[in-house]
Amino acid sequence: MVEIILLSLFIIIICIAGIKTSSLSYSGGAAAFVCGEIIAVAFGIRGLLLLGAFFLSSSLLSRYKASEKNQVEEITAKGSKRDWQQVAANGGPAAIFSMANVSDPHEIWLICFCACLAAANADTWASELGVLSRGKPYSIRSFRLVQKGTSGAVSLLGTLAALVGAAFIAVISLALFWGIGAFALIGITLSGFVGSVADTIFGAYLQVEYQCTECKLKTEKPVHCSRTTQKIKGWKFVNNETVNFVSPLLAGLLVLLIYFL
Ligand SMILES: [Zn+2]
Repeated sequence: MVEIILLSLFIIIICIAGIKTSSLSYSGGAAAFVCGEIIAVAFGIRGLLLLGAFFLSSSLLSRYKASEKNQVEEITAKGSKRDWQQVAANGGPAAIFSMANVSDPHEIWLICFCACLAAANADTWASELGVLSRGKPYSIRSFRLVQKGTSGAVSLLGTLAALVGAAFIAVISLALFWGIGAFALIGITLSGFVGSVADTIFGAYLQVEYQCTECKLKTEKPVHCSRTTQKIKGWKFVNNETVNFVSPLLAGLLVLLIYFL
């Protein structure tokens, strides 16, 4: 009980710090608190430290060369300040597997939880570092060069960043939860990476994309140049958050499948 109260205080401090440093909006801070509490109850301080490794590395990377990325933010619907939908998309699947562990404690839920964070981390690292790639990225749909920041765009740098981002979480997972064993290191890295690849594929085929009728820019924003943009591809309800929710969930389910096989 004392432990949970102390952890709750710790979570509140982190959330306030996130809001103060503009990494989180107010709603994002509230969502991070809820996810943090669920994870703390399920996996204690070590679960929070793993979540912290994801948030800290992602926030630092989104600051890195921020001015070069401004151009890309015109295309993506949101800036670097995370709101509740973005937090729920990134942290939701991890919270789901945490709840599974609370109701039915088993090591596999912990591995699923780690895989979720590995996928979210792979995805964030890929987009934050991928946009810094020198050349234009390729669309995995048309295999043509496209604008940076377009959903479904891939570059070598971004793909490598995804792999390293997944491995980063896997290594920290093993350091924190020694009992999961070396095999989990491979399982978490692999499923985290596959999750982020799935994210790119969903992004390319299903994620909604609009085009500005005024300046012709392709964007995820429903309004640009003060006008309603025109939908040119994807499903209206599949936005960046939907895609970001599905990829960690898939990573968690994939590692669950590997475990049972
Ligand atoms: Zn425009």
